[in-house]
Amino acid sequence: MKILVVGGAGYIGSIAVKNLIRQNYEVVIFDNLSTGNECLINKDAKFFRGDLLDFNEISQVFKNEKIGAVMHFAAFSQVGESVKNPQKYFINNISGSLNLFKAVLENDVKKIIFSSSASIFGEPKTVPIIEEAEKNPTSPYGTTKLMIENILSDYDKAYGLKSVCLRYFNAAGADSEGKFGEMHDPETHLIPLVLKTAKGERDAIKIFGTDYKTKDGTCIRDYIHVEDLISAHISALDFLNKENKSEKFNLGSEKGYSVREIIEKCKKITGINFKVEETERRAGDPAKLIASSEKIKKKLGWKPTKNLDNIVKDAWKWEKKM
Ligand code: UDP
Repeated sequence: MKILVVGGAGYIGSIAVKNLIRQNYEVVIFDNLSTGNECLINKDAKFFRGDLLDFNEISQVFKNEKIGAVMHFAAFSQVGESVKNPQKYFINNISGSLNLFKAVLENDVKKIIFSSSASIFGEPKTVPIIEEAEKNPTSPYGTTKLMIENILSDYDKAYGLKSVCLRYFNAAGADSEGKFGEMHDPETHLIPLVLKTAKGERDAIKIFGTDYKTKDGTCIRDYIHVEDLISAHISALDFLNKENKSEKFNLGSEKGYSVREIIEKCKKITGINFKVEETERRAGDPAKLIASSEKIKKKLGWKPTKNLDNIVKDAWKWEKKM
C-alpha cells in the first residue's frame, strides 16, 4: 500500500516515513519545506515539493501516484505565534487541509490519519483527559485543529471519508537511531531548549511560571516519545484498513512531568549543570495536561513503550549531532 505523508520532511513526519518504510509501506512525501527540512527527507521515499495552498500541486500527486491512505502532519504549530497572527494559522492550516481533502475525495482515497492536538481541550476541568472532555481551545492553533476534526466528521457523514484523528500531547524525543529529530526554527519546545542550554548554545533555560497550582508550581505535561506516537499512526492505519470506521483518540503516556522535573532529568542524563531562570507565565499555558490512554489502548491495542529517560536520551543524542 502506498502512503502519502503530507509534511513528511518535518520532525514527526520524517519519523513516520522511516517507520512506514520499515514496515514495507511505499511512501510518497509532500512538503513545502517551509518548516520542514531538506535533510529530513528520506531517500527511500518519493518526494514532491509542493504547497497545500495550491490545489493543483497536491492534486498532481494523486494523479501521478496510486495513493491508498494519507497521513496529514502539515501545519503551522506554534501556539504563541497563532495568538499573534491567527490569519496565518487559519489560512495555512484550514485552507491547506481543505485542498488536501478535496484531492483525497476526487481521487477516491477513503482513509486519512490526521495530527490533531491536546490543545483542542484548552484548560481541562479534570485530568487525565478523556476523548469526550469539553473542547475549548485557548489559541487559534487549537481552534484550527478542532475545526479540522469537525470537517473530517462531516466529510465522513457526507462522503464516507474515514479518518483517525490523533490528539498529540507533548511529542518529544527523536529517532532512536539518531537519524531524525527536532529542527524547529525558532525552537519553542521545552526539552530541546533545555538540551540546547546544556550544550552551551543558550545562557539559561527559563521556567515560564512557578505559581501554578501543581506540586512544584510549574506546568505539568504528558511527554510522549515520537516513536511511540508513530507506532500509534501505524496502528491507526491497520484500524482503518480493517474496520473502515472513523475514530478520535487522545495520544499521550498518562504520565505527567513538571517543567522542573524535566530540567532535573535533563541535568541528570547530560551530566551537565546549567542556569535556570524563573520567569512569568507564558500566555495560554494550561497548568496540567495529561492524556487518558484508555480508549486507544482498548481500540487500537496501542501503548507507549518508552519512558522519560528514553525521551531525553534520544533527544540528547540528536541534539549533540546538530
Ligand atoms: N516551557 C518553559 N520554558 C521554555 C519552554 C517551555 O517553561 O523555554 C514550559 C511551557 O510553559 C509548558 C511546558 O514547558 O508548560 C511545555 O512547553 P512546550 O512548548 O514544550 O509544549 P506545549 O505544552 O506548549 O505544547
